[in-house]
Amino acid sequence: MYPVKIESKLFCTRHDCPYYHSLDNHITKDGVYTTKNDGVVRQMFKCWKGKHRFSETGYCDLFGKHGSFKEYEQMCKLSCYGLSVDQIADVLLKDTRTIATWQRSASQKANRFHEALCLSIALTVLSIQMDELWSYLKNKNKTLWVFVGFEVDARFWLNFELGSRTTHTTTKLVTRLKDYLGKLTRMTPLKVTTDKLAAYKNALQSVFTGHIDYVYLQIVKKRVKMRLITVKKCFVKGTEDDFKGKTQNTSYIERFNLTLRQRVSYLQRKTLGYCKKKANFKATLWLNLYDYNYRCPHKSLRQPTVLPGVSRFQKKWTHRTPAMAMGLAHAALTWRFLFVVPIPVTH
Ligand SMILES: [Zn+2]
Repeated sequence: MYPVKIESKLFCTRHDCPYYHSLDNHITKDGVYTTKNDGVVRQMFKCWKGKHRFSETGYCDLFGKHGSFKEYEQMCKLSCYGLSVDQIADVLLKDTRTIATWQRSASQKANRFHEALCLSIALTVLSIQMDELWSYLKNKNKTLWVFVGFEVDARFWLNFELGSRTTHTTTKLVTRLKDYLGKLTRMTPLKVTTDKLAAYKNALQSVFTGHIDYVYLQIVKKRVKMRLITVKKCFVKGTEDDFKGKTQNTSYIERFNLTLRQRVSYLQRKTLGYCKKKANFKATLWLNLYDYNYRCPHKSLRQPTVLPGVSRFQKKWTHRTPAMAMGLAHAALTWRFLFVVPIPVTH
């Protein structure tokens, strides 16, 4: 039983097997083994049609990459604390290229896992906030923008897109969001809040129209010399009545941006840590997405388990990750889970 609501069928992972990645195959558990490397028990499987055994490490791109699960996990954690590949290599006493390969493999798996999970179930999303963060690419003359889509109620990081600050990049992000929302008929229109960038309006219009019923609010902030003067609400689509409760703002995404800037060294301001290679940036973001959505409990999502004053020694709170609040998972996931969960590669 998986802690996530995903129907993942086991498949054969051996490249030279004629039933490689075939779902029409019978796979069963077949004993365990430990490696000299880390002494952690690993599961073996049997591919019945191909008549051979294979290890659960086949389900991650880290298979045969000369590291232990512990080292892979450490690499992921350090990446999410904002360390660069060089720094991680130094801490783990490995070659920089080794760490780069591990990071790429783990982030590709995180990407595949997130996409597969979000596309397998139509997500129940009531309100979305979008924003963009700037950073540099290669040198300080070239800016690179990170567009982020964020679900408000579950604090779920839906997706991101790297590129220039144009309608093109925004459309790519909005299209991903549209795919995640699925064909589910909506009870209430989807609430979208962004800042005043015109690209959002164009992207939403071209992508959502005819597919998703939405209302759209722009928060227009006016600053003079970095100081906030006025905040104006501009209802582009829909009226004030459509935005009930705490949804007439971009506060949630702005708080999330802070989390991101804190955790992704490429986004830290006034440092030399900006991105030199777009692929590395993407890899770090995917690892952070997994860490944020699936692994770490979010403080504001916790729920009280006992009535106040019952007992001092009882557990007071149930901690939840954004994915749990979203109804995608039953428990907080681990890095190890990401490595071994069977997600087929789709081409
Ligand atoms: Zn096989």
